[in-house]
Amino acid sequence: MKIENYIRDIQGFPKEGILFKDITPLLNDPIARQECLSVLVNSLKDQKIDKVVGAESRGFFFGILLAQELNAGFIPVRKPKKLPYETIAASYELEYGTDSLEMHTDAIKKGDRILIHDDVLATGGTAKAVCELVERLGGEIVQCNFLMELSFLNGREKINEYPIFSAITY
Ligand code: IMP
Repeated sequence: MKIENYIRDIQGFPKEGILFKDITPLLNDPIARQECLSVLVNSLKDQKIDKVVGAESRGFFFGILLAQELNAGFIPVRKPKKLPYETIAASYELEYGTDSLEMHTDAIKKGDRILIHDDVLATGGTAKAVCELVERLGGEIVQCNFLMELSFLNGREKINEYPIFSAITY
């Protein structure tokens, strides 16, 4: 079973010149999905995780599966003004301009052992902003994991102070 076979390349999405990695075939296959979940969980080598943080929106799919498998809490990190309670925000750079991500202020307690998950590590801006939110609330980042890493974009360099695991590297 090769997880790669369940990731589809879409040329020109969401705009011209971009080769988009589409994980919907992986989500749609229970055996491939379970295999991918096992690969991510095994990379943790039985380290205890209190909470999994998933980045909007494709980080929610495996984020919640990981939280369930690890018997951990799940924390959604969302785009601005989506979360109803009190939030903290961190901004990150886009190709043009900046965007920001938010987390509930009471989601993490000091010393919580945190797994950060997203579907793709590209330039690393998203992951870095999520790490910043976690650390501002006193969480200890055990690992940042991804279904795939686009290594030619060097995202790893932005979060190289943390352990990183990617199920697939392109
Ligand atoms: P970064 O901030 O540049 O590392 O981009 C990572 C974010 O962009 C993640 O939240 C991904 O969901 C999204 N992303 C970037 N490239 C792709 C792709 O090819 N497929 C799916 N999501 C992508």
